[in-house]
Amino acid sequence: MVKRGIPQRYKRYRSEIIYAPKKSLGQNFLFDKNHLHKIVACCPVDDKIIIIEIGSGYGNLTNLLAKTDCQKVIGIEKDSQLFQWLIENNKNEKIIYHHQDALKINWPEFCSQFKNNSLIVVGNLPYYITNSLIINLLLDYQLFKSLIFLVQKEVGQKWVSGSNKYPSEYSALSVFINYLTETKIVAKIPAAVFTPAPSVDGVLVSIEPHQNVNTSKEQLISFLRFLKNCFRFRRKTLLNNLLSWARNYEKEWKKYLQEKGYEEKIRPQNLNPSEYWQLFVFWRGLA
Ligand code: SAM
Repeated sequence: MVKRGIPQRYKRYRSEIIYAPKKSLGQNFLFDKNHLHKIVACCPVDDKIIIIEIGSGYGNLTNLLAKTDCQKVIGIEKDSQLFQWLIENNKNEKIIYHHQDALKINWPEFCSQFKNNSLIVVGNLPYYITNSLIINLLLDYQLFKSLIFLVQKEVGQKWVSGSNKYPSEYSALSVFINYLTETKIVAKIPAAVFTPAPSVDGVLVSIEPHQNVNTSKEQLISFLRFLKNCFRFRRKTLLNNLLSWARNYEKEWKKYLQEKGYEEKIRPQNLNPSEYWQLFVFWRGLA
């Protein structure tokens, strides 16, 4: 295959790579079949399932996803060169490509065409969109059956962290994700298997939205803002974090902590996601 515009330093890359990889778009491609199959194996597919893939690249994962029993694969690719390449060279009647920025998608609108299907979102994600993308998707968590993402190890650890797993990574985002979903790391993917190889290893994360949470998007936006305030100063106590932006309620916060049996000196990392939700509900009642 002709390598158009590939600088000399990229010539060592595999023949599948046609264009110089764009660092700004997080282009660390995965051609290793063994690891690609691990991603596919995590997808609970049947003929009613539509798979939405974020960042199709050269279609290597897209093609394997299309070989499953799923009904369709929707490949979203931001890079116009790669999008053009995909529609010209990677045709498959089960695959539809969209030239779009995944961060700009209005998910309820995008998914309204698939009302009779279950949706799974999959991707070897470009590192720079990971946290914004997971937040956008989870604000509409009820649209999705499952999310399967390959991300940098540190990002995955933050997503699954709790009191028993990676406690130092526990953050507002971890609380938000684990309140809404069952999230686990299912495989480690070494940096060396990507082309070009990034500086850190990756992990494959499986995220299943809970079916029994009944929370509106507005509440979730407000919950996330609340959590960010609670974790703003990790080394301070939770009470001091609360007082730093809601000082007028000192008496109420102290009474709440006492009634719940929390020590006054507990830190933001000491509450689990459902305890945070209860604290948020209490705060909504106050404000
Ligand atoms: N799926 C391919 C693979 O596994 O080899 C490519 C993965 S590569 C890590 C990330 C892909 O996402 C690239 O093709 C990149 O152009 C695309 N991408 C980057 N930013 C994007 C965005 N905001 N929306 C959609 N695709 C994006």
